[in-house]
Amino acid sequence: MPIYLDHNATTPVDPAVADAMDGALREDFGNASSVHGWGQRAKARLDAARAAVAALVGGDPTEVIFTGSGTEADVLAVRGAAEALEASGRRHLVIGTIEHEAVLQTARALARRGWEVSWLGVDRSGIIAPDALAALVTDRTALVSVMLANNEVGTIQPIAALAAIAHARGALFHTDAVQAAGKLPLDVAALGVDLLAISGHKFSGPKGTGALWVRRGTRLIAQMTGGRQERNRRAGTENVPALVGLGVAAARARTRLAEIGRVAALRDTLERDLLAAVPGTHVNGRPDARVANTSNIGFEGIEAESLVIAFDLEGVAVSTGSACSSGTLEPSHVLKAMGLDPHDTQNAIRFSLGFSTTAEDVARVVALAPALVERLRAVTAGATSRGRDAALASHDA
Ligand code: PLP
Repeated sequence: MPIYLDHNATTPVDPAVADAMDGALREDFGNASSVHGWGQRAKARLDAARAAVAALVGGDPTEVIFTGSGTEADVLAVRGAAEALEASGRRHLVIGTIEHEAVLQTARALARRGWEVSWLGVDRSGIIAPDALAALVTDRTALVSVMLANNEVGTIQPIAALAAIAHARGALFHTDAVQAAGKLPLDVAALGVDLLAISGHKFSGPKGTGALWVRRGTRLIAQMTGGRQERNRRAGTENVPALVGLGVAAARARTRLAEIGRVAALRDTLERDLLAAVPGTHVNGRPDARVANTSNIGFEGIEAESLVIAFDLEGVAVSTGSACSSGTLEPSHVLKAMGLDPHDTQNAIRFSLGFSTTAEDVARVVALAPALVERLRAVTAGATSRGRDAALASHDA
């Protein structure tokens, strides 16, 4: 049986989600903006989904904007809030260095348009110190953006403390909660944020769905312009079947949180047993401040991509903390920001478990790992000594 330990990349769709989507796709084809019965039925289904998403984050349905992805929710939050404040003279952003590319690239795009961006670093365990934010935020800061849980190492940031610091200087606070939804209870009031983004496919909903919760009264410039959907904040006919799926997934995510302790126990077993079975391994991130399903482990002396492939050949899906772009191995920006040695930014594997993960899955991965790692280390050692021999030979020549 193949083993899927890449739930931070995406999750399998819950059968209840697929069933609800199927019904909506076949029967409720109306345009939710139409006044006739078909339209009103579609709108009722959207309203139910909106209420479920609001309940997931602890907000009001009128504060939920549906989007076409977590990325879009982040972009709408950062760019939409920044543009709304542009005329006020606040043209400064504070952005976490370990944010997802959705936030990083949006901030860089704003910087190219003349916005000042301050980068908020993390400590060795991937956590932001509130004092570090206090040193950067000013009366010119429009928005601070810090993710709730990191996708690579799973660390959870002290969002309530950070949001209070931003608010004390009159700045808005956005949190990317894409990796937190379904793994942590969410409560926008307790977090004290103004904007919060989620993505359906990270908690057993369909891909291409997301939502941005926006505190009532927060000004936001629509990034998708056109019709008056989503209270004028996101134009485009809503994808009713997909959003019905998002709503069911949101409701399921709340109830399934009761099982998260089992996922955490499996993750802890995996981590403990892997570290014991494979010498030269270490955990990246902060063990006592992580989401329950994530373990990021460095395997000294290997290239992470090679180990991902070796696991895949054995039917085990895991991933690296680093992205492989156009043939060049880019070290993980998260591990780099945490100050890891250059080789340790390239040898990390992310194991991300889910509700379907079993004790047998964990035992099989632990049983496979020592031989796979040993083989790759032998190849690396061979390549290094061949490289050294070649260098010596060319030096002698
Ligand atoms: N933010 C974080 C932390 C993520 O992990 C991801 C997805 O990997 C996103 C945003 C983007 O979400 P989506 O895939 O729905 O665009």
